[in-house]
Amino acid sequence: MNSAVNVEEIFGQNVFTLAKMRERLPKKVYTEVVNVIQNGGELSKGSADVVANAMKSWAMENGATHYTHWFQPLTGITAEKHDSFVGSADEDGRMLTSFSGKELIKGEPDASSFPSGGLRATFEARGYTTWDITSPAFLKESGAGVTLCIPTAFCSYTGEALDKKTPLLRSMEAVNKQALRIIRLFGNTTATRVNVSVGPEQEYFLVDWDKSMKREDLIFTGRTLFGAMPPKGQEMEDHYFGVIRERVGEFMKDLNTELWKLGVPDKTQHNEVAPGQHELAPIYETANIAVDHNQIIMETMKRVAEHHHMRCLLHEKPFAGVNGSGKHDNWSLCTDDGMNLLDPGDTPNKNVQFLFILSCILKAVDTHADLLRQSAADVGNDHRLGANEAPPAIISVFLGEQLEDVVRQLIETGVAKSSKRGGKLKTGVSTLPQFEKDATDRNRTSPFAFTGNKFEFRMVGSSDSMASSNTTLNTIVAEAFCEAADILEKAEDFDIAVHDLMKEYLTDHQRIIFNGDGYSEDWVKEAERRGLPNIKSTIEAADVLTTKKAVKLFESYGVYTKTELESRKEIIFENYAKTINIEALTMIDMASKQIIPAVMKYAGRLARDVNEVREAGADESALLSELKEITSELTRMKKALEELKVNETKARKITDERKLAYFYKDKVRPSMDALRDPADKLEMLVDKKDWPFPTYADLLFEG
Ligand code: ADP
Ligand code: MG
Repeated sequence: MNSAVNVEEIFGQNVFTLAKMRERLPKKVYTEVVNVIQNGGELSKGSADVVANAMKSWAMENGATHYTHWFQPLTGITAEKHDSFVGSADEDGRMLTSFSGKELIKGEPDASSFPSGGLRATFEARGYTTWDITSPAFLKESGAGVTLCIPTAFCSYTGEALDKKTPLLRSMEAVNKQALRIIRLFGNTTATRVNVSVGPEQEYFLVDWDKSMKREDLIFTGRTLFGAMPPKGQEMEDHYFGVIRERVGEFMKDLNTELWKLGVPDKTQHNEVAPGQHELAPIYETANIAVDHNQIIMETMKRVAEHHHMRCLLHEKPFAGVNGSGKHDNWSLCTDDGMNLLDPGDTPNKNVQFLFILSCILKAVDTHADLLRQSAADVGNDHRLGANEAPPAIISVFLGEQLEDVVRQLIETGVAKSSKRGGKLKTGVSTLPQFEKDATDRNRTSPFAFTGNKFEFRMVGSSDSMASSNTTLNTIVAEAFCEAADILEKAEDFDIAVHDLMKEYLTDHQRIIFNGDGYSEDWVKEAERRGLPNIKSTIEAADVLTTKKAVKLFESYGVYTKTELESRKEIIFENYAKTINIEALTMIDMASKQIIPAVMKYAGRLARDVNEVREAGADESALLSELKEITSELTRMKKALEELKVNETKARKITDERKLAYFYKDKVRPSMDALRDPADKLEMLVDKKDWPFPTYADLLFEG
C-alpha cells in the first residue's frame, strides 16, 4: 500500500521553473526573463510570445488542456477562470492550439464579480490580471484535469489594486529600497536587493467527510455552531507531537507529494495541541512566493483531504472550547549577497547594524501596533485573539532574555558591554551529549516574538491570506528605515549618530517590549497603562485603516492609496456582515429543523415513560426531574431562537455597511450565543441516539 516517493525526482515537477526555461528558451530570451525577475521591468512583446509558446508546449506535454490567470481577489481565497488552449482550426480542420504572449501577460476577468469595496462604482468595472513573473507558473491537477496556472496581480482599469498581491509586491519594493539605504550606510556595497523572507506555519483540522456532511454548520460555515465538549478534551496534552494516526499519515503523504510536485518546499508535519489538529510548515521563501505557496497549500489540503474521505477545516475556530488554528508568519530580511539582517550573531552587543535594525523594527511595531493588529484580523480570528490560547489582541514584542538585557544596557548606559550566553544544557544523564542552549527560551504567548534570526508574527488566522500581514509589516519597517536613513545620511559623525538614534528609538519605544505571560489579566491592565492599543474585533480594527497616520504611511511608500484603503475597509464590513448572517441563518435552520424536533420527540417519549413508571407504582421522580430540566432548556432555546430571528429581520433594514457590521457584532452574535447555550446543555441531556448530527466526540476522536 505504501508506494515509495522520490522527493528529488518529483520536486517541482509541475512547475515551469527557471531550469525548465533555460532548457526550452533561446538564451537571449532566457536572459531577458532572468533580468526582469531580478531587476523588474517588462518583457518585450517578442520574448513574451516565445515564453508563452514554450510554456504552452511544456504544459500540454504534461496533459494540460486549459490555462488560467490565478489571482488573489479580496475574498481572501484564490480565483481562476479557465480558458482552453483550443484555437481556430486550419484548412484541413485540424485544431491549432493558441496561447500568445499577450494572453500570458494580461487577462481581463470580469471585475464586477469580485469585491471591490466601492472601487467599482467610482471607477470602471474593468479589471486586469497581469503576470507576476517572479512567481513561477505551475500545473494544477484536479477533477477539472490539468490546468496551467499563471500567478497574476489583479488591478482595476485605473490601476487600483483589487487583490492582495499587488500591495504586497509594492511593500516589498518599499522595504527593499529603504533597507538598502540602511545597509549602504553600514558599509555594504555589494548587495543589490533586500528580500523579504517568509515562512508560514499552517494549522488545520481533519474530520471524517461523511460525518462532516451530516452537519450543516460545517458545510456552510466551516465551523461548528453547536456542540458540547466531549468528556476528554486536550487537557491530557497527548495529541501534540503525538504519533500520527494511519489515516492522517496517508493523507499527509499524499499532501506532501502533491505539494512537492508544485515546488512547495514543505518540510515539517506534526500533530497539534487539539485532537484532530495538525500543522504543516514549508521552508521559508521570498514573501510573494511564500504567500502564493501558502494559498496552494490550503487549496491542496482541502483537495487531498477529500480524496481521503476527510474534510480539512481551515477555520480559525472550528470547535468551541478546543484550541483554534493560526498561521505563524515567520519574517526576516535577507540581502541578495546572503546576509540575514536579523541575525544577531553570537555577540549581539557588538553587532551594531543588527541592533540598529532591531531598534527600527521596535519603533515600527510600536508606532503602528494598531495596523499590525488589523493586518491579522478576520471574522474567524475574532474567536481566537485574546481568548487565552492564541496571542492576545494586544501587540507587544518578545525579545528574549539575551536581547532584552542588551537593550536594557543600551537604554541605561548607551553601550552594551556584554551578551548573556546560553550555557550548557544539563540533562543529568551522562550518556546524552551536553549541548549549548539557545540564549533565549521560547515564549508562546507573544504575538510578535524574536526567534533567533527572524520575527514570528503569531496573530494571523489559519484561513487568512498571508498577504496583508506581510504588506503591513514590510511597510511599517520601510518607514522606520526611511526616517532613520534620512537622519543618518546627513550625519557628520555616523557612529555617534547611530548611537544616539538607537538610544532614542529604544527609549521611546521600550513600552512595546514584553517578555511575560501574554495570556494573563495583569498584562491587559499593564498594557493599558503603557498606552498600547487593545483592539478586540475585526470591525473595530477595520477603522484603523483610514486614520491620518495610516493613509500617510501607505501613501508615502506607494503601497495603498487612500481610495484603496477605504475600499478595503468597506469590504471588511461587508464580509463581516455576510459571514455572521450565514452563520445565524444556519443556526436558525439547525435549531428549528433538527435540534428542537429531536428534543421534542425525546421529551415526549420521556413523558410517556414518566406516566408508565407512575402507573406501575414506582418512583417516577428521577425521570420527572430529567424531563423538567429538558423542557426548561427547550423553552429557553425557543425563546433564544425567536430573538435571533427578530435580530436577523432587523438587520435586513440596515443599509449602511458599517452600521450593519456593528449590528451583527453587537446584537446578532450575542443572540447566537444565547441560542447555542441551551442547545449544548440539551445535547448532554438527550439520548445520544436521538441527537440529530455527529457530536464533538464523534468528529474529534472517531474521525
Ligand atoms: P517553530 O519552532 O516555531 O515551529 P521553525 O524553526 O521550525 O519554528 O520554523 C518555522 C518557520 O520559520 C519555517 O517555515 C522556517 O522555514 C521559517 N524560517 C526559518 N528561518 C527563517 C528566516 N530567517 N526568515 C523567515 N522564516 C524563517
Ligand atoms: Mg512557530
